[in-house]
Amino acid sequence: MSEGTPPSLPEGVERREIGGRERLATRGEPVYGEPTDGPWRAWDPSRSKLGAMLELGMDTGLEGDETVLYLGAASGTTVSHVADFSGPTYAVEFAPRPTRDLLEAAASRPRLFPLLKDARKPETYAHVVESDVDVVVQDVATRGQADVATRNRQFLAEDGRLLLAVKARSEDVTADPDAVFDRVREELEESYEVLEVRRLDAYHVDHLGVVARPRV
Ligand code: SAM
Repeated sequence: MSEGTPPSLPEGVERREIGGRERLATRGEPVYGEPTDGPWRAWDPSRSKLGAMLELGMDTGLEGDETVLYLGAASGTTVSHVADFSGPTYAVEFAPRPTRDLLEAAASRPRLFPLLKDARKPETYAHVVESDVDVVVQDVATRGQADVATRNRQFLAEDGRLLLAVKARSEDVTADPDAVFDRVREELEESYEVLEVRRLDAYHVDHLGVVARPRV
């Protein structure tokens, strides 16, 4: 890739004209009332931190067809898009109510595996999730976001990627977000090498997008 060229989108993610403007889109059944065009469904970056990371041109390393462990799946807004273009996609969520919606999103996606589990306790799903996953996506919006990433590092292949969304207010509602991001990054650096960080404020106020790879 030459300098200044934005990273390419993963295979299965395209920019398409939907509803009168160009949007990121994947192919699959709609999940959250997003506009569609034939088999394509718009991926709304204001509803999805990973969508925002792609929209803002972060180099996620995603090529398509990866094995994914997704932490903090909620009702499946983002992970449904991920499962549209990825291989096996394990979706961890610990709240029962959104998990019911997640099961619905998974009904038309044979490679999406919802797990009603606590991402702070990887030992409770280690027997289900295959080892050496290519990508861990994390959007748990809870205190201890670096700790969750560290605990789940064990699942990542040596050349895998962590795609992390950090919500400052989940760590500390009163602190300056930049100070929170520095602290999270410092903790993360103990087990990951951070490759890129970008504030996602254009779509998600006081959130940081992080691309990292495991330290070996
Ligand atoms: N990633 C989702 C999306 O884009 O569609 C939105 C996720 S929402 C910001 C954060 C989710 O993480 C919530 O549904 C919450 O229940 C879940 N969560 C928080 N802590 C968790 C934990 N320890 N284990 C599993 N899920 C957790």
